[in-house]
Amino acid sequence: MLYDDNLKGFIRMKRVLVSAVLFCILINAGCSKNQPEDSRIVTHSHKEKGDIVMKQNLLCLMLAYPENIIGVECDENGWVYVAMKSGKRILYDDKRTKTYDEKMETPDLQDMMEQGYPLYDIDNLLDKGNDPGRVRVYAMLKEVYGESRKQIEANLVTVRFGYKNCRFNSSNKAAESLKKAGVELTELINKHKSVSAFIYPVGGTYSYRLISGTNRLSAHSFGTAVDLSVSKYDYWKWASREQGQKRLDSYPKEIVRVFENNGFIWGGKWGHFDIMHYEYRPELIFKSRYFAGKPLSDECWFKGIETEDADIKNYIQLIDKALK
Ligand SMILES: [Zn+2]
Repeated sequence: MLYDDNLKGFIRMKRVLVSAVLFCILINAGCSKNQPEDSRIVTHSHKEKGDIVMKQNLLCLMLAYPENIIGVECDENGWVYVAMKSGKRILYDDKRTKTYDEKMETPDLQDMMEQGYPLYDIDNLLDKGNDPGRVRVYAMLKEVYGESRKQIEANLVTVRFGYKNCRFNSSNKAAESLKKAGVELTELINKHKSVSAFIYPVGGTYSYRLISGTNRLSAHSFGTAVDLSVSKYDYWKWASREQGQKRLDSYPKEIVRVFENNGFIWGGKWGHFDIMHYEYRPELIFKSRYFAGKPLSDECWFKGIETEDADIKNYIQLIDKALK
């Protein structure tokens, strides 16, 4: 009897499960009819997807470096360049297939923009190799912040950051953005005293130096990065991933949000973590803000961005004209 009841129960449960699965399939079929964007993604060729993403990346670069980038060019062989005010042109995509190390050593703009920066709180360290912003195109940084040490230093200004004076690059609103972040952090400390220990003493801003173990200049060399209060567990070369994870767990996310709202990315969101480090990289913040998680649309590649703004409209027209 007991066995029969169990069997009947089992059959009933199976029917319910089958009905539920069928219901889900029908619902999904209905949804996909109502979401033409999703089905369009599937029909995009690899090249078309690349073209849409390229236009989005170029727009974010133009928004991020408005005083330096004056246009986009495509030559007769299909090579796309960003045209700088100085007359220089920076190649967008060298079309080479590269390893992670090759992207770090010889990146193009496409490599620099490739990994999406997560503009949301993270609970876990990113995987090693997922380092949005760690790839830098030095030709662009030099154009914007100074070609040489002498030129960079001529662009430095002293910024009041909380109770400390810091040297930061005045070009492209970098220093202005650090100052604004400093004011917002003071307001944060007034509300939550405990965050102060994560900010002060400030580890440093401008320092003309190579990244440890490489022959590449650090972002600190351009006066566009700040290290906050340093812990021995902040850096992937000093600490294990477990130690880095513990530091991440204890880290006030409000500090990160203040910097991100002012155009900075956080080294705590790199698989090669650098938790003390904030770097002014507005192009990556724009890309996440406007395009992250949005379906690619072949009707409108800039879907997701505010188009009433005259500057943005102008950039969109420039890009469309150059890449038609
Ligand atoms: Zn740093």
